[in-house]
Amino acid sequence: MAATQLRVAPPPRLLQPLAVPQRLLLGPGPSNAPPRVLAAASHQLLGHMHPEILQVMDEIKAGIQYAFQTRNALSLAVSGTGHCAMEAALLNVAEPSDSVLVGLNGIWGERAANVAARLGATVHELRKPPGEYFTLRDIEEGLVRHKPTVLFLTHGESSTGVLQPLEGLGELCHRHGCLLLVDSVASLGGAPILMDQQEIDILYSSPQKVLGAPPGSAPISFSERAREKMLRRKTKPPSFYLDMLCLGSYWGCEGPSRMYHHTAPIQSLYCLREGLAMLAEQGLEKSWVRHRANCISLCQGLQELGLELFVKEEKKIPNSTHSKTLSPPEGLPTVTTVKVPEDCDWKEIVTYVMDKHNIEITGGLGPTAGKVFRIGLMGYNSTAANVDRVLQALRDALQHCHRSKL
Ligand code: PMP
Repeated sequence: MAATQLRVAPPPRLLQPLAVPQRLLLGPGPSNAPPRVLAAASHQLLGHMHPEILQVMDEIKAGIQYAFQTRNALSLAVSGTGHCAMEAALLNVAEPSDSVLVGLNGIWGERAANVAARLGATVHELRKPPGEYFTLRDIEEGLVRHKPTVLFLTHGESSTGVLQPLEGLGELCHRHGCLLLVDSVASLGGAPILMDQQEIDILYSSPQKVLGAPPGSAPISFSERAREKMLRRKTKPPSFYLDMLCLGSYWGCEGPSRMYHHTAPIQSLYCLREGLAMLAEQGLEKSWVRHRANCISLCQGLQELGLELFVKEEKKIPNSTHSKTLSPPEGLPTVTTVKVPEDCDWKEIVTYVMDKHNIEITGGLGPTAGKVFRIGLMGYNSTAANVDRVLQALRDALQHCHRSKL
């Protein structure tokens, strides 16, 4: 046999050691993982059907039920990022005969509308300017006008910094024969969300924000109402990989026996388990209070630097009589958006903060691109020390930016 001739050489860069710098991630995500989560990633692989892994999956399910505040049996982690959970949510409950009403006040509504349209569902957009949230009245008007079967809303709009109030929405949707689907990728663990009490039918998140775990295993949960809708489908979900009823039997949600579906990302599961465990140890209420307190001091510091917050909100105005109350929630405690000053180039600031201070903050995204900076204080990173660090870095960057204009 002729000697095999390789035509592609080993890539020289791959023969160098892996290089990962230390960096403080104070953008809208991912945020830094705590050492305990990083240590979890270094455990050896096990078979995905080994009893120890099935136990980790059960622990994750219980952790998701706690973090979401739900007793839904169909609670699990899909193998993928937040977008994967968004697709899983929509493709299981929306088929071509469905109509989906999408709350569009930032990029995540745009993405959900895109996904729902690909599924062949009729998509209606309910628009609000970036920086604002939907009121019960806005939603009711949309429900009456479009008679959707599913409403999509983003709890923590990380492209604009808005927190969507959820109180009363589930009940309103149900009165209009509609399921409520909520994206909590950027808010879970940082702001109150109570799936069962708020009658949310489908809720998903992703671990790289408050949970401080790597992206790759995304929590998701379906109410009994949502599950019944899936059982009544006229067509099969268009994805085998994300078919929730198949995934439910893999995750033991449908009874004790487990059906192999795919090889779950084992290391991601270890990390998600630890991220959820740390949230359970701290307790949701303490986590919410910590995120809110650090966000408020960040906002005060930003205003002292002469910067203007993008989201108009009473709690963030220093000395406001409302500043210590927990309502009305409007700004997102995990991701703060601040207007780019007119005399500054946002890229110059972001690059300076990264180069000189080794801190990631980012510019806007989608409708806020070029208009805002986004600063995230999430999970392990939501600390008073990090508030000081990012404010110091911004002060320095703003002075530098003004100097460079002279
Ligand atoms: N929804 C929201 C609110 C997000 O902030 C993000 C990520 N920034 C996503 C969805 C998408 O998640 P991923 O990047 O993990 O796919």
